Amino acid sequence: MKKIAVLGSTGSIGMQTLEIVRKRAEEFQITALSAGSNIDVLEQQVCEFRPRLVSLKKEEDAKELEARLRFKDIDSTEVVYGMDGLVACACETEAEMTVNAVVGMVGILPTVAAIKAGKDIALANKETLVTAGHIIMPLVEEYNVKLLPVDSEHSAVFQCLQGAGEQTVEKLLLTASGGPFFGKKRDELGSITVEQALQHPNWSMGRKITIDSSTLVNKGLEVMEAGWLFSLRPEQIEVVVQPKSVIHSMIQFTDGAVLAQLGIPDMKLPIQYALTYPNRVSLSGERLNFFDLQRLEFYKPDTDTFRALALAYEAFREGGSLPTVYNAANEMAVEMFLERKISYLQITELLEHAMDAHKKIKNPTLDEVLSTELETYEYIREHWR
Ligand code: NDP
Ligand code: MG
Repeated sequence: MKKIAVLGSTGSIGMQTLEIVRKRAEEFQITALSAGSNIDVLEQQVCEFRPRLVSLKKEEDAKELEARLRFKDIDSTEVVYGMDGLVACACETEAEMTVNAVVGMVGILPTVAAIKAGKDIALANKETLVTAGHIIMPLVEEYNVKLLPVDSEHSAVFQCLQGAGEQTVEKLLLTASGGPFFGKKRDELGSITVEQALQHPNWSMGRKITIDSSTLVNKGLEVMEAGWLFSLRPEQIEVVVQPKSVIHSMIQFTDGAVLAQLGIPDMKLPIQYALTYPNRVSLSGERLNFFDLQRLEFYKPDTDTFRALALAYEAFREGGSLPTVYNAANEMAVEMFLERKISYLQITELLEHAMDAHKKIKNPTLDEVLSTELETYEYIREHWR
């Protein structure tokens, strides 16, 4: 029985993780769960999975959940809260693996703590590697834990790399759907509404990543994430737009061979592979039908219109604290867009301003990464609110 802690269990990835655990109940046991503020869903999850530990963001929500569990005579689950609570869940003593599916930079500290506690990490939270890859990757080595990618593109690469020797990768072809506004030009994007940006053509995901997919910030974050995971330089990662999202990414090897992983767009496969690695186990569901598909098309990304992708490469090449600014500025910009405080095109504009204004720290410590995040928020509050 593999024991697992799931951070962000009420979100899109978190719930799909629990769906897999539910189907493979004889193999997996949940020992910790965490959420932000969704008490109702977390309560149901506690009733079903009976974890030893759960956490919510705020103390009052934790008290409320505790009262509800007591009312149901569930006293085997301890309820904690805040960053300390999230970290405690990440390190829950019995868990072998921690699935990090929280959204945002709040994912960094629990990842660090879980690695130090010797847990294998199934990582969906891309912000962790983007902002602190230079700290996380050496820790993974030092504590000899596995870092398994959950993001579909990174899982695809990871699957293609099984059995490949060291130093055999020439290039990563990171596929992108292009998002809902693929093919549009900048002057057509000025009036995009929140509702339009939340319509992804192929994937059903959380709100932030759906907006990020439309601006290509998501692809930009994935380029940086892939750089850390697979030790690749920016010029070794090429984004290829493939609108149907059935090729999840490809690796070009030094002998010219290209391996790709294909499948229907469904996060359950990459999540399951991270949970069962190194084994590949059956997963029921729809299969790819090549005759229905007929053809696959490939395009270069339009980085004039979707400037956020070009900015990501700039942040990646510059390194240091700049990727943190890229990520933090985007987190706040997306929040402001969802609150209808800025326009769609201003998301990328704001990101670029924050990057231009930042004085780079070359090799930031964890504290400096976190203070850069706060300074970026402060800069935006001063200049844009
Ligand atoms: P969701 O918004 O659906 O879920 C986020 C989860 O994190 C929820 O459980 C939420 O709790 C919790 N959470 C949010 N804020 C906090 C906080 N401050 N403290 C503790 N917990 C918090 O996101 P997704 O599942 O879509 O994405 C999660 C991560 O995975 C992101 O980094 C994303 O980029 C990445 N990812 C997602 C993919 C997808 O298909 N969805 C694909 C590849 C990567 P609550 O529900 O209570 O708010
Ligand atoms: Mg992805």
